[in-house]
Amino acid sequence: MTLSTDPTMAETLLADRVRTARSSEVRKVFMASQKRGVISFAGGAPYLGVLPFDRLAASARRIMAGSGAVSLQYGASQGIPELRRHVCALMELEGISADPDDIVVTSGSQQALDLAARILVNPGDVIFAEAPSYAGGLAVFTGYQAEIIHVPVDGEGLVPEELEQAIAAVQTTGRTAKGLYTIPNFQNPRGINLSAERRHQIGEICRRNGLLIFEDNPYGLLAFDGNTRRAIQPDFPDITMYFGSFSKIIAPGLRLGWVLPPAGLYSHFVNASETTLLNPPVYNQQLLCDYLDNPAWKATLDESRGLYEKKGAALVEALEQAMPAGTSWIHPTGGFYLWLTLPEGVDTGSLVFECIERGVAYVPGTAFYADGRGSNELRLSFCLPTIDEIRKGGAILGQLFREATEAGTACAAATDDRPRNHPGRPSKTS
Ligand code: PMP
Repeated sequence: MTLSTDPTMAETLLADRVRTARSSEVRKVFMASQKRGVISFAGGAPYLGVLPFDRLAASARRIMAGSGAVSLQYGASQGIPELRRHVCALMELEGISADPDDIVVTSGSQQALDLAARILVNPGDVIFAEAPSYAGGLAVFTGYQAEIIHVPVDGEGLVPEELEQAIAAVQTTGRTAKGLYTIPNFQNPRGINLSAERRHQIGEICRRNGLLIFEDNPYGLLAFDGNTRRAIQPDFPDITMYFGSFSKIIAPGLRLGWVLPPAGLYSHFVNASETTLLNPPVYNQQLLCDYLDNPAWKATLDESRGLYEKKGAALVEALEQAMPAGTSWIHPTGGFYLWLTLPEGVDTGSLVFECIERGVAYVPGTAFYADGRGSNELRLSFCLPTIDEIRKGGAILGQLFREATEAGTACAAATDDRPRNHPGRPSKTS
């Protein structure tokens, strides 16, 4: 049978869940920012220049020569035992005590999130998430037709009282709330940490209300001060799925992450992973294990953290010099991101392609909300560009947004003839 190539015919056959999916704003910006010479603050990509490529190349060669027939064969659906042992050792740093047999290795934590939604979400189910939250996480849940309800955050992360209110509001509608999706460390996109006290309060609220916690933690080992925070999972193992990743701490190209689910969900994760992936690539896992076997990897991670701290500071300095009054941001203390709030009325979505034309890419704030908010916000990822690029990029951003703010003020002044003794420029905060 020949399938029709008519796109409209093909489109009529799409599943309902795909019809409602938004195309990724991050991807559009990412594509546009691929042009030569554009300084990209857009993607959440780590800086890989610190990696010992010669050592990795020798390791790759040794593995292939020594065990090529295993490396290139199908493997265990849960991932190879050596890597699961390394995962357990890593999670111990965050107070998690797990057995290698509790872990499912996945193709990045993105796949693990997808598996979680696949086995847990029915159309119409509610998932609570920070406001704002990781675009790729929201896309997974909405892709399975969940409704995202954003919960307000402040400087200590998600606000427990707000979560309680949001749960109560959903309960009155008779809908099913399945869980809370949270990124407790150096949150993507705001860069904030959930305080220890709130981790506990939020865990209690979820347990009391029969909700699962999707604890997504790719940035936990990237604190600039080197301190690792206790995860939510150890205190709420019965309701928490913990998602980990090697992408931000080592290399995303290996596409390796994992999930530690509550005991009752383990076999469902394995089954779901088998239907999507069969097994994670053995060769990549062996290469990663060989890298982790040598304790030098920790010094390399320290080096990345030190570099990211300097880059974050350079970005803050550039923004302080360049951004219009009334702009605020949160000073990064780890992770990859700085979240910027511009004066009301500045539309970061309509300015992003103009900004790319001028040589700088960012992700507009609306990408991080499921409900259209965030038009005067944006995310900057500072890990990949050099310090010189960060300085230059910060100046370009500042110029663009100063112009936009002044144009907005001029517009408002032209349409507003009320007497104005003190136009008032709110001060810049960081
Ligand atoms: N969760 C968060 C919060 C992320 O920022 C990312 C990547 N940007 C992922 C999950 C997915 O990462 P990966 O699939 O590379 O492990």
